[in-house]
Amino acid sequence: MSYEPKRADFTVPVRIDLYSDTQTRPSRAMKEAMLQAEMGDEQSGSDPTVWELCDRVAALLGKQAAMFMPTGTMCNQVAVATHCRPGDEILAHEDAHIQSSEAGGPGAITGVMIRGLPGPRGIFSAATLREAIKPVSRYSPPQRLVEVEQTANKGGGACWRVSELRAVAEVAHQHGMQVHMDGARVLNAAVALGVPAKDVVADCDTVWLDFTKGLGAPLGAVLAGPKDFIGEAWRWKQRLGGSMRQGGMNAAACIYALQHNIDRLADDHTNASELARGMGQIPGIKVETPETNLVFFDTTGTGMTAAEFAGRLRPLGVTVSVSDTFRGRACTHLDVSAAQIQEAVAIMRGVVV
Ligand SMILES: *Cc1c(COP(=O)(O)O)cnc(C)c1O
Repeated sequence: MSYEPKRADFTVPVRIDLYSDTQTRPSRAMKEAMLQAEMGDEQSGSDPTVWELCDRVAALLGKQAAMFMPTGTMCNQVAVATHCRPGDEILAHEDAHIQSSEAGGPGAITGVMIRGLPGPRGIFSAATLREAIKPVSRYSPPQRLVEVEQTANKGGGACWRVSELRAVAEVAHQHGMQVHMDGARVLNAAVALGVPAKDVVADCDTVWLDFTKGLGAPLGAVLAGPKDFIGEAWRWKQRLGGSMRQGGMNAAACIYALQHNIDRLADDHTNASELARGMGQIPGIKVETPETNLVFFDTTGTGMTAAEFAGRLRPLGVTVSVSDTFRGRACTHLDVSAAQIQEAVAIMRGVVV
């Protein structure tokens, strides 16, 4: 068995890339900012640009401290390892990324179990959480951490409301658990809800945000939380090989993204609504109304699987991703214009017969 990804077909160019908001290329201006970056050795604390990024993210999210990492997956794994001990249990939505898409990391690295909670659109209620809490006993695993995903990816890019987060965090804290937010797209939520990011994450003890999801940077994510927690987390960053050297060049791209690419997430949300409206008029396609930049759709009525639909679009220069047999996802981001959305809808209409 090989787990190596298949090489893309580079002979047929992708013109409209709705596969993911990770598909963006750094803009010229972002690359200029990278060229100007002051650098040092991140691992020994001497890269000033990495410190600047961490300070900015800590301020943005209203947390005491922050830490730069190569990826969001590493942020989740370092956070889990720092919060938990082997045998502990994490309560998370049953469709959470940490459960479905991180190669079993929490089990393999920290030795924890994840209890999947149900709930519509990737969100569970405080009542559901309360029902899943077991009396403390010698028999049951220590329930250590509640994990929430903002926005909920497989939930269709749905946003947790601040009140929902507050209610869940209250139950968690009452039972001695911490709350960790997988905030890969937390800024999409802040923009969509019209609430400052630090208010969105206020009830979570730890949170990270991804700079490669819609913010347009080529690499990087930042984990934030209490000073003691981040201090502890540094050992896991080192242990997993996440301590870097001249990280400043990448941190500069992330700082550029903070300065230029947050407010414009609203454009991606408008484009997603337009895409949903257009796709909804294609016979046989059923669209889930988007709240942010992710548009999930069902191809059952076309007689095609989502993979067949995606396979017909690819030679025409349009990509979408496949999430299940009949469920696909189209994603808007800063490298897709409003005009391209209209064009993509026309091409999609053409492949549905
Ligand atoms: C993409 C994603 C991750 C992982 O982030 P990477 O930077 O790709 O490692 C984690 N959680 C969610 C919800 C994501 O969408």
